[in-house]
Amino acid sequence: MTPPTLQQAEQSALRMSRLLPVLSALFLLLLWSVVVETLGERATFARQRIHTEQHSWLNQAVRGIDTRLQALREDLLLYRQPGDGLARQANGLYPLDSGRLWLVNQQEQQQLHGELLTLDSAAQDSVRLLLKQQPVDGKLLLLDASTPREPERLQIVIPHCDQGGCQAALTGYVRFSELLDSDLLADAPYIILTDSNDNALLSRGNGPQKLENYLDSKLWHSSLAQAELASVPLRLSVRLPPERYAEPFVLFALYLIGAATLMSGTLIVILLRVGRRLAFILQRSEEVNQATHLLTLTNNSLRDRLRKLIEEQRDQQTLIDTVQVGVLLIDAEHKIVITANEAASRLLGYTRQALYRRTLESLFTSPDQYRQLLALLQEQQQLSEREVELNTRHGERLWSVLSMRALLFRERSAYVLSFVDITDRLLHAQRLEEEKQATERALSQLQSTQHELYQRATCDDLTGIANRRHFLSGAGKALELARLDNQPYAVAVLDIDHFKSINDSYGHATGDVALQRMTQHIAAALPEPALFGRMGGEEFAITLPGYGLNEAHALMDNIRQGLAAQALPIDNHALHITFSAGVAERKRHSNQLSELLKIADHAMYQAKHNGRNRVESALPAQDSPH
Ligand code: GH3
Ligand code: MG
Ligand code: MG
Repeated sequence: MTPPTLQQAEQSALRMSRLLPVLSALFLLLLWSVVVETLGERATFARQRIHTEQHSWLNQAVRGIDTRLQALREDLLLYRQPGDGLARQANGLYPLDSGRLWLVNQQEQQQLHGELLTLDSAAQDSVRLLLKQQPVDGKLLLLDASTPREPERLQIVIPHCDQGGCQAALTGYVRFSELLDSDLLADAPYIILTDSNDNALLSRGNGPQKLENYLDSKLWHSSLAQAELASVPLRLSVRLPPERYAEPFVLFALYLIGAATLMSGTLIVILLRVGRRLAFILQRSEEVNQATHLLTLTNNSLRDRLRKLIEEQRDQQTLIDTVQVGVLLIDAEHKIVITANEAASRLLGYTRQALYRRTLESLFTSPDQYRQLLALLQEQQQLSEREVELNTRHGERLWSVLSMRALLFRERSAYVLSFVDITDRLLHAQRLEEEKQATERALSQLQSTQHELYQRATCDDLTGIANRRHFLSGAGKALELARLDNQPYAVAVLDIDHFKSINDSYGHATGDVALQRMTQHIAAALPEPALFGRMGGEEFAITLPGYGLNEAHALMDNIRQGLAAQALPIDNHALHITFSAGVAERKRHSNQLSELLKIADHAMYQAKHNGRNRVESALPAQDSPH
């Protein structure tokens, strides 16, 4: 059997909360109907019982009183007879009060017999009134005694009447209670003795006040037990003491009402508790419904977030395990390893279990370096990119770059230590350095070779100045620039005088040295933009950008003079070397370099011709033989 779902329980509670008040009201109605019905039956029963007992009591009392009054009347009739009857003693008359009896004459109001006591005035009035009414002779009458001190006393009157009317009456007093059996009075009933006009003559007891509080008084009066005494014009009514009947009834009613009240109270309490419980269930059900709704709403997002978290965690773990960086988590208090990643395990050669609780210090090759780094970490909370040497399990040394940071891990102080193996990097760097040095050497060699090649390609081997090809190239470019900028541009061609004789005198080698010294001297005297080249043998050429013909002539002549003025120390000889030069200028002669050189060369020959050791400017173009 499956347990009821929350929705079924809620519907059931809802139905219960609607049905329960109705059922309870019906039950209470039924309960109190039964109570009222039962009380009504009991009351009716009590009334019937009282009624029956009253009638029974009354019949018994009336019979007793009748008997006694009949006997008294007969006795009094006898007593009234003259002669022997009068001679009787009054105290023999039962129940005459103390045997006192008076014969009252209508006129004289005289007491004839009995003790000499005068009737009180009320009694005399009663007798007098009675005599006037002429009642039936011999009839025993009971009258109200009219004596407040003795409410039970009744006056007995037997009038003496003849044809002419009543002249006298025999009168005395009788106690009403003595007319009744003492047993009948044991329950102390409430008794009323009335005359034929319902005027109360005598009453005894306190009346049915209490019972009337519980029972319908009209009903009670309608069933008043009463009986008319046959011999006297009196009527006797009785009410039995109500307490005797009321008490059981009241007790029963109290018990019944108490029980019903208790049941009703219990039911109401149960109803309230069940109602509260149902309300609580409904409220809880509502809350659960809302919570379920909320849970349903958030469940998907939670599931998504959980899935993402799991994926992220898996990714992070994969990342941590796959990265080449070794990571150790260190307990800051005990300086021992708490956890390590795969890279740390692999780099240090330990299993992760073997790394666990290993001291941090044992991983460092140098205890001094360990203490130094630790002090720095405790001071700055982090350190980075420190090159350290770590111990591996196999006794090898692991060069690493290490970073450390202090943090809180599971509410405990911890250090996270990350390191990478730089052994390969160092080797690689070393190789790179070696390669770099080799490259630099090769480069230097190459540069040297290039320079040498350049020198070879552009310079004259003996003198070091520009060779013919390089000179012509550089001089051509400079001439083109000057032409474009419309700037002056001069060239000079020079030839050493009588050089053959130097060779002849000192040898070819000395001639070579003389060539070197002479070119060095001239090169040192030339301005910056000038290009000095060896055209072949002991012939040279110079370009002078920015120089006009006269300036070029002056410059060359100045150099000539400077050279001629000193003796060059060559191979333990002091030699005087001179040259002859010809100068030509672009604007005056030609924009073609070959042409310009030819003109200058011609001027140089002219200088030779004019005596050597001199400089000649070329003639103007129109004057030139070319
Ligand atoms: P001048 O020019 O004054 O008329 O007389 P010269 O003696 O200089 O005349 P010439 O031009 O005929 O002679 C040039 C000499 O220079 C010939 C050659 O042996 C010499 N010579 C040329 N090149 C070199 C060289 O590189 N080294 C040496 N030692 N001598 C050279
Ligand atoms: Mg020559
Ligand atoms: Mg020469």
